Amino acid sequence: MNETRPTKSGWIEVVVGPMYSGKTEELIRRLRRAQIARQKVEIFKPAIDTRYGADHIVSHSEHRIPSRLVATATDILAFAHEAEVIGIDEGQFLGGELPRVVNDLADAGKRIIVAGLDQDYRGVPFEPMPQLLAIAEYITKTLAICVVCGEPASRTQRNRAEGGRVVVGGAGLYEARCRRCHTVPTEDGAPAAKTTVSEEPAAPPVQEIA
Ligand code: ADP
Ligand code: ZN
Repeated sequence: MNETRPTKSGWIEVVVGPMYSGKTEELIRRLRRAQIARQKVEIFKPAIDTRYGADHIVSHSEHRIPSRLVATATDILAFAHEAEVIGIDEGQFLGGELPRVVNDLADAGKRIIVAGLDQDYRGVPFEPMPQLLAIAEYITKTLAICVVCGEPASRTQRNRAEGGRVVVGGAGLYEARCRRCHTVPTEDGAPAAKTTVSEEPAAPPVQEIA
């Protein structure tokens, strides 16, 4: 008998959407239920995001749950051994190793719940969330309310042009917008650009095998 084979099948849940869409609230809701059921829960967030303290995940609506800071996705492995349920917030900041780490933990029989932004402030898919969506068993897409028109908001608007892809900030810097109201700020104050979905050159055409 293979003694390392898990007795239960694990799985991956991913919660994605723009800022203010309730990803963290939803992550906390699922983790609290697991804790109430006395499952062993470990919760992680990336060290880059210490806006609301280092030792809790905190939603914009002030829900909170204790968590552990990690610098990289592989750091999660050191603390995950005993856990039955693992929660990870802001997955988009944990780098390209996250899908492999999460996949290995699910293979070991654990339930993994990852929340994160699916698009950056330009509307470009935010790695590694697309890869996680592809390997997840369960996917939830949360939407906020567009602060301009009130329609469902799938995009995160950044109100300043300066800075790269990652500029950590809260109220004022970012707001939730629908695809019609969303714009990409420009450095020179020129009319705001619309988003382009991909930075990558177009993929080569599919080849048919005879
Ligand atoms: P996320 O993790 O997706 O950024 P949170 O779970 O931290 O979202 O916060 C969601 C909460 O943000 C909502 O319950 C609401 O109180 C608040 N909120 C602020 N602005 C908006 C908005 N434009 N649309 C919806 N909720 C908003
Ligand atoms: Zn709108």
